[in-house]
Amino acid sequence: MEKIAITGGIGSGKSTVSEIIRDMGYTVVSADKAYSELLLNEEFVKEICELMKIPPIEKDGRITIDRKALSAIVFSDKNQLSRLNDFTHPRIMNEIFRRAKGVEPLFFAEVPLLFERGYETEFDNVFVVHRRLDLRLSETMKRDGKTEAEVRKVIDNQFDYESNKCGNKSIIIENDGTIDELRSKVYSAVNALL
Ligand code: ADP
Repeated sequence: MEKIAITGGIGSGKSTVSEIIRDMGYTVVSADKAYSELLLNEEFVKEICELMKIPPIEKDGRITIDRKALSAIVFSDKNQLSRLNDFTHPRIMNEIFRRAKGVEPLFFAEVPLLFERGYETEFDNVFVVHRRLDLRLSETMKRDGKTEAEVRKVIDNQFDYESNKCGNKSIIIENDGTIDELRSKVYSAVNALL
């Protein structure tokens, strides 16, 4: 099995690329979705609450995290965000690779913070999606209902995919045209791996 990560900045088109690859019939696991699913596990929830010193709350008969309280802590303090990420990211990666078992010939995972966390070493190849900044801004504002300043803040805190070298495993996918053009680039990139 060959393992391929899909990454890129916010609004670059990672989810769109993932969807295209899923439509081709391949398994694509999303780190964000794996995290949401881990949060359904009460043990995992309790461990996070203990670590971050927030009381777990009960919602619809299930123990869950007070997301507002957690956001307030991690948005105001970078050290707390690192503590949370140091706990959650290895567990999310384990969950991703648990799902890779037995998948042939290609296994894909959409991992937003791949280079920030050094997880590129776990993959054979990395698809890095690039998209023009103005398009990323306008489409993410529309998708998430955020202001330009809010989206810029996220981008400023992310790895600079456009200027940094992403290593020799990286395959750049330029998402600078229509969705149909993106689809044909993705088809070529995936088929080149077979
Ligand atoms: P990411 O997962 O990297 O944050 P998405 O795949 O969600 O990015 O793309 C961000 C937004 O831009 C979405 O609303 C998506 O539909 C749109 N989008 C992505 N690529 C294109 C494209 N080539 N043409 C038009 N819209 C696009």
